[in-house]
Amino acid sequence: MISYQIIEHGKPLQKVALETPKPQGTEVLVRITRSGVCHSDLHIWHGYFDLGGGKRFYVKERGCVPPFTLGHEPFGVVQALGSKAKGVRVGQKRIVFPWIGCGKCAVCKAGQDNYCVSGSRILGVNRPGAYSTHLLVPDPKYLLDASGIDEAFAATLACSGLTAYSASAKLPLLAREDRVAIIGCGGVGLAGVSVLRARGVKHIVACDIDPRKLETAAKLGAKYTLDTRDPQAAQQLAGIAGAIDFVGTPATAALGIAALRKGGRYILVGLHGGELVHPLPPIAQRAIGIVGSYVGNLQELKEVVALAKQRKLKPLPLETRPAAQANAALEDLHAGRVAGRVVLDFETVAS
Ligand SMILES: [Zn+2]
Ligand SMILES: [Zn+2]
Repeated sequence: MISYQIIEHGKPLQKVALETPKPQGTEVLVRITRSGVCHSDLHIWHGYFDLGGGKRFYVKERGCVPPFTLGHEPFGVVQALGSKAKGVRVGQKRIVFPWIGCGKCAVCKAGQDNYCVSGSRILGVNRPGAYSTHLLVPDPKYLLDASGIDEAFAATLACSGLTAYSASAKLPLLAREDRVAIIGCGGVGLAGVSVLRARGVKHIVACDIDPRKLETAAKLGAKYTLDTRDPQAAQQLAGIAGAIDFVGTPATAALGIAALRKGGRYILVGLHGGELVHPLPPIAQRAIGIVGSYVGNLQELKEVVALAKQRKLKPLPLETRPAAQANAALEDLHAGRVAGRVVLDFETVAS
């Protein structure tokens, strides 16, 4: 198989020929056709997350040591099955749920794989991912049928769709006139606009500093757009019921939290970095919630896929590029030049 791997953090990925793995037990080998490029891939590529105050979390501390294959938005065709893999057949096209836990702890048994702390096996984060012609999946239960959904869009549901969906489930109970802010209209933020529309939220305020991204958010159903560089931005946002922050900087957190109405919720998704300093009494007095949201679980992905199949979830703008352009895709994403999502086409790679 051919994989595009991190050999050294921050340096261009390298095309590497590796032995194609043979699935054992319940494992399934998937031949990847599409693989989405996510902003969090950039952090893993660079090798760390910024914790603020000069502190960093290095990804090697959670087992992501080069050579490493990124990619947690996989879509492909079942190519081979281990002897105990049941429920799928060779040749079937599937979305792969990548947020896989140990499978044995109480958290995993409750269907919350994405919260497992006793041995994560997340594809593209601490196990080889989908920037590759082939991907080994531990169990067929992590494969979802996506018949009728465009393959590139289907791939993006595994992270951007799922992450947006799970975050939106953490909003407070909304009244009809309540406004909800989407802060940051990159790939996951745009999926957030789409998900909120699909959930029937009418008053979505899309916030960004890039007018092109705001325009796209409006097309996907945001009723209002706000350039956060506007000196009146905080004032215009004041009174929102919820803010989902897909950026995650001290500035976006301050904007979102300050604008909440009483009982509102600020949901942090973005991992851009920094730290939060906030006076304590107003959190209680305003009865606001500050909550983190990390990707989503298998059941939530099933629900997102169902919404997409019913055509209730509008696809964000997608650009499919040959897999050989993986490095250019990461560079473009890093420079803010991607409107929506880049999806790599691995059918173009001979293996
Ligand atoms: Zn992602
Ligand atoms: Zn577990």
